Amino acid sequence: MAGPFSLEGRKALVTGANTGIGQAIAVSLAGQGAHVICAGRRACDETVAEITAAGGSGESLLLDFADPMAARDIFDGAGISILVNNAGIIRRADSVDYSEADWDDVMDVNLKALFFTCQAFGKALLAQDMPGAVINIASLLSFQGGIRVPAYTAAKHGVAGVTKILANEWAPHGITVNAIAPGYIATNNTQALRDDPERSAAILDRIPAGRWGDASDIGGTAAFLASPAATYITGAVLNVDGGWLAR
Ligand code: NDP
Repeated sequence: MAGPFSLEGRKALVTGANTGIGQAIAVSLAGQGAHVICAGRRACDETVAEITAAGGSGESLLLDFADPMAARDIFDGAGISILVNNAGIIRRADSVDYSEADWDDVMDVNLKALFFTCQAFGKALLAQDMPGAVINIASLLSFQGGIRVPAYTAAKHGVAGVTKILANEWAPHGITVNAIAPGYIATNNTQALRDDPERSAAILDRIPAGRWGDASDIGGTAAFLASPAATYITGAVLNVDGGWLAR
C-alpha cells in the first residue's frame, strides 16, 4: 500500500532541473515514484540518467524563460499534478548602478515566468477538476534585504506573495501552493562564495547547523510538500536554512 509520502502515479514538472537544486528536487520526486518532466533551457539528460539509474522514471523537456510565457501550453491535457518552479538567476550590482536590463532579466525569470507558469498549471488543473501541488523556490531574500541584489530580493519577496495569493485562490479546488526558502546551499550558484575563505567562514559561522545546505535537503522538502502527507499545508513559505533565520 502506498504510504503518505508516496508520489506513485503522479506526474511532476520541475523547471531548471538540469543542475543544482532543481536536479535534486527532480531526483527526490522520482525517488517517491513520480514520473518527472525535467525542464531546462538546456537538456536535462544528466538528471534523467540519475533518475533512471535509481530505478525511477523521467524525461527531459526544453523550456527557456527567455520567454516568460514559455510554459503557457505545456500543461493542457498532460496530467501533470505537481509543479516545481525552481529556475532562477541572480545579477549583482550596487542599487545605485543597477541596470534596467539586469532588473528585467531577473524579474522575467524569477517572478514573471514563475507566475505565468503557475497560471498555466492552475488553469489546466481547474479545467479537469484535478487536485495538485505547486512548490515555488523562494530564498532567504524573501524575508531579508541582502546587498547588491535589488532585483533578486524584490523578485523573491514577490515569489512569497504570489505563493500566498494562489494558495488562497486555489485551496477550495484542492491545489496547494507553497514555497521553500533555501538558506545557503552548495550549488554552482554559491561556488564563488564558497571559494572565498573569508566570506565562506563568515557564512558558516552564522549557520546554527554548522554546515552548508545540500541540494538534497531542498529535494526532500519538495517531495514532502508534494505528497499526500502535506495536503493541509498551503500558503507556507518554509525556510530550509539550518537555522539561519532562527538566529
Ligand atoms: P543554479 O544556478 O545551479 O540553477 C539555476 C537553474 O535555473 C539552472 O537550471 C538554470 O539553467 C535555470 N535557469 C536560469 N535561467 C533560465 C531560463 N531563462 N530558463 C530556464 N531555466 C533557467 O542555482 P541553484 O540550483 O542554486 O538555484 C535554484 C533555485 O534556488 C533558484 O531559484 C535560486 O534563486 C534558489 N536559491 C538558491 C540558493 C542557494 O544557496 N543555492 C539559496 C536560495 C534560493 P542553466 O543551468 O542553463 O543556467
